[in-house]
Amino acid sequence: MTTSTTSMIEVSHLGKRFGSNQVLRDVSLSVEKGQAVALIGPSGSGKSTLLRCLNLLTVPDEGTVRIGEQSLTFTGAATRLPKDAVLAGFRARTGMVFQHFNLFPHMTVLGNVMEGPVTVLQQPKAQAAEKARALLAKVGMEHKADAWPDQLSGGQKQRVAIARALAMEPKVMLFDEVTSALDPELVGEVLRVIQSLAEEGMTMLLVTHEMAFARDVAHRVAFMRDGVIVEYGPARQVIEAPREAATQAFLARFH
Ligand code: ADP
Ligand code: MG
Repeated sequence: MTTSTTSMIEVSHLGKRFGSNQVLRDVSLSVEKGQAVALIGPSGSGKSTLLRCLNLLTVPDEGTVRIGEQSLTFTGAATRLPKDAVLAGFRARTGMVFQHFNLFPHMTVLGNVMEGPVTVLQQPKAQAAEKARALLAKVGMEHKADAWPDQLSGGQKQRVAIARALAMEPKVMLFDEVTSALDPELVGEVLRVIQSLAEEGMTMLLVTHEMAFARDVAHRVAFMRDGVIVEYGPARQVIEAPREAATQAFLARFH
């Protein structure tokens, strides 16, 4: 199960269908340790499904998914579903933040960030609280530690959601359109947090419609259409001088 590459995330020949809808077709992608890759593409092209396959919220039909040293291969009907412990191990390695804030409404901000470390990692509460406060400071939310989720703006909720994911000490972070549901004036504060994580060397794969952000913050950009990665390359090149006609057509919508 060990490999000699330096990539932290590796997906090979991934396939996924829902009924007769082939959503991912032979998708291969790797993210080097410490790098950020932005995944762009039209709605319905399979971006969220690819992210979900990385932490096995969605189980691929075929192909291999590797996070760090842990890998799983899927072979269609013959695949034996991984044991719960393996699934849990995979999920613990990948912190995921979604478009729609999914903070626990009945817990304070601090409680949200402590929950995983206390219940899953079995950390002592005092230690989890101390770490949670440090993570809240990192996302600029320490002053709201005792607030309830419904007292926060959308941008603040997303920053807490990022702190909550980081509390599990993931090897990689997956961001799925985390600013798409925000009012425009709140987008920047969330992107700045993601940018600082990228600058610190967090390995990440992020789905975004913020093309300037993808260009400036990601190391590489992958353009996906109809379940296929059509183009993959250095961020600036893909965003500013895409080679494929499909990428050019997609990006033209953002000008
Ligand atoms: P994107 O994130 O790029 O918008 P998705 O990965 O969400 O695309 O969806 C890709 C395709 O898979 C769409 O046609 C969508 O309807 C379908 N799909 C996604 N999840 C499911 C599911 N759980 N069951 C059935 N179809 C799904
Ligand atoms: Mg999506």
